Amino acid sequence: MKKIRKLTAVLLAAVMLMTISSFSAGAMTVVRDGKEYTLETHTPTTGDVHVLMVRLGFADYGVDDAKYPAVSEQTLLSYFDGSEDSVNAYYEVSSYGQFHLHCDEVFTYTAPLERAEYDSQNRSASSSPEGLIAESLTSLKDQIDFDKYDSNNDGYLDVVCFNYAGPTGAWNSTWWPYVDSADITVENTKIEKYAFLKEGAGTMKHEFDHIFGAPDYYSYSNTHEAAIATFDMMCNSSSDHNGFTKWLFGWLSNDDIAYVSKATGDTTVSLAPFETSLGDGKKIAVVAPAIDEQTPLLSEYFIVEYDTGTANNK
Ligand SMILES: [Zn+2]
Repeated sequence: MKKIRKLTAVLLAAVMLMTISSFSAGAMTVVRDGKEYTLETHTPTTGDVHVLMVRLGFADYGVDDAKYPAVSEQTLLSYFDGSEDSVNAYYEVSSYGQFHLHCDEVFTYTAPLERAEYDSQNRSASSSPEGLIAESLTSLKDQIDFDKYDSNNDGYLDVVCFNYAGPTGAWNSTWWPYVDSADITVENTKIEKYAFLKEGAGTMKHEFDHIFGAPDYYSYSNTHEAAIATFDMMCNSSSDHNGFTKWLFGWLSNDDIAYVSKATGDTTVSLAPFETSLGDGKKIAVVAPAIDEQTPLLSEYFIVEYDTGTANNK
């Protein structure tokens, strides 16, 4: 099956017109036409990274609440057991074996207040979600080896994930699955982003991608003008990452990409199967049907991949 992935251009222009890409300490910077575009993350997307996983309970909903418990430790660990639908197997395959995500211990914290006290309308107060995170990690500091969770030693925890007790709230509420920015320091270690989740390995993959710096590729306004028109982990939380995300995460290099523009004229591009290991040819073709030289970032681009319906694209 051949998929054509169509994206509006702010993102793809970086692929098409980029001249240099670099990976500075803690952040990925794309330099294109002399301008720097920084992917906001302090989390590496290659090598070994450990997820700091915390179960959160409250005065009114304990972690093992009869009706609304946090996800059990056993289940959370099973998301990283390497089995077919696990979180770590997904990244292992998508990264062509370059990114190893681990979670081999789960911490538990029970807050003294009722859950509503930590709602996001309290963000400026000490009982906001940020206050809750600082309070929980401070309380757990003697149990947590913070160095283990900062694999690139940049002073920021790589992936911090909280799984809370209590019912799921409304969309965009504090108790909805999401990743948010933070400015927290615990034990001389900073937390810049955190995941607040209920359950599901699939949700975890999508939300972790935000921690790794990927944006949503679905339209918030349902117009689809700012969305891609295909299956993708950052579009509908299914399937593999598209080639652009893999390039951002450092799993595809410039050598894995075929560039086709108007100037190329009629051309034939051979693509290797997208899902299989690297080294067998170009993985994606980036096609610009019409580059507007004056406003290249407003142009439209296509990514073409040869998807064989295996691995994460089954
Ligand atoms: Zn998202």
